[in-house]
Amino acid sequence: MSATNDNPATIVTRFAPSPTGYLHLGGARTALFNWLYARHHGGTFLLRIEDTDRARSTQPAIDAILGGLKWLGLDWDGDAVFQFARADRHAEVAHQMVASGHAYRCYMTAEEITAQREAAQAAKQPLRIRSPWRDADPATAPAGQPFVVRLKAPRDGATTIEDRVQGSVTVQNAELDDLILLRSDGTPTYMLAVVVDDHDMGVTHVIRGDDHLNNAFRQLPIYKANGWPEPIYAHIPLIHGTDGAKLSKRHGAVGIEAYRDELGILPEAFDNYLLRLGWGHGDDEIISREQATEWFDLAGVGKSPSRFDLKKLENLNGHYIRAADDARLAALIAPIGGYADTELLTRAMPVLKARAANLNELSEGARFLFAHRPLDLDQAASDLLGGTAPQLLAALHAALDAVQQWDQEALEAAVRQVAEAQGVKLGQVAQPLRAALTGRKTSPGIFDVLALLGKEESLGRIADRMAV
Ligand code: GLU
Repeated sequence: MSATNDNPATIVTRFAPSPTGYLHLGGARTALFNWLYARHHGGTFLLRIEDTDRARSTQPAIDAILGGLKWLGLDWDGDAVFQFARADRHAEVAHQMVASGHAYRCYMTAEEITAQREAAQAAKQPLRIRSPWRDADPATAPAGQPFVVRLKAPRDGATTIEDRVQGSVTVQNAELDDLILLRSDGTPTYMLAVVVDDHDMGVTHVIRGDDHLNNAFRQLPIYKANGWPEPIYAHIPLIHGTDGAKLSKRHGAVGIEAYRDELGILPEAFDNYLLRLGWGHGDDEIISREQATEWFDLAGVGKSPSRFDLKKLENLNGHYIRAADDARLAALIAPIGGYADTELLTRAMPVLKARAANLNELSEGARFLFAHRPLDLDQAASDLLGGTAPQLLAALHAALDAVQQWDQEALEAAVRQVAEAQGVKLGQVAQPLRAALTGRKTSPGIFDVLALLGKEESLGRIADRMAV
């Protein structure tokens, strides 16, 4: 029996995305779980870009993956490893495996493979290549003919994986075939490259989506053939949409930058949400990074697929917006709204952030601060400014003009006095006042709005709508 990684001195995890598409929700969660597991154990978290598919790997996808990880605060140790650059090493291992009798050169022709495929189809059996070269005398090899290198996979017995999430999973070895390690052009296959890289990088724990569970049974024989310690596997269930179907574009299976740019999500809210997608700690919903690092373990990962729920993500986001630093929020929304005065935004933030579920709403909520007179009114505001509103506003103008100390207390006293003098409720005065000051029917509290706009601007906006 070969060594295992049951009790490694240091835990090493890795995130190994293929840069053929952007970093999506599932990938980001895999990265987070690997990061948390490594950090929890004081181990190492590595990044490997699996760019062996030259036709489909792109630089923009690599940039999006690196940028996405940075945005989420998932820092990796050392430099990212690029898989394609290691092709010579992968080939070297394949040749060693041929030399040690764990792999062989297969000269099967396209016709021979087609014949096996057709026979399998006719028998309604899955295709398992049975190469005559597996046990052939290498001396009989046709000189100068192209060949692939195949693994001499075990055919008897069974392979069992004690997966930390899926439990004990067994596959009969007869169901596996002699997979290709090196193609006829000498390039390594994905299956070989993953194992060689994980071994060379010292990876002790392979934590990844359960769409790779089948691959684990094909990868293990490569470890065994080389006498390498086998990794501990943890295959995490995939993420489904709210309707239970596999996550697709329709559900938001988009690059994570869309959550940042289009939905205005804060990274800490996204992290917290990803964490709760498939991992739990009692009923805790709001879990900081520090707390997560302390608590995270593989035992808390659920066995069934988790469901993506945008509402939950937005609720968490609202929480983290209210907890976030005002100057940071101001800097984040200034480019969204095209606002230049971040000092004013920062001052306004305590009242603005109380109401926003995402950064776009936060930015919209700040718009009134920067609007130019005369303000554009939306329909609801325009309706509020009809009837007796112009007279009320004239009375408010006079009362507010007399306010010396432009603070909440004095402003409230002045507005209340007008309401009393006019014999109406405070709300009936506040509504047209809000419409005149913000051009909208909803806004932060009216005294906050007055205070933030200042005396001159407030009186100007009121004057634009009052009866003269
Ligand atoms: N590159 C693979 C993917 O992006 C992951 C391989 C692995 O984690 O072993 O799906």
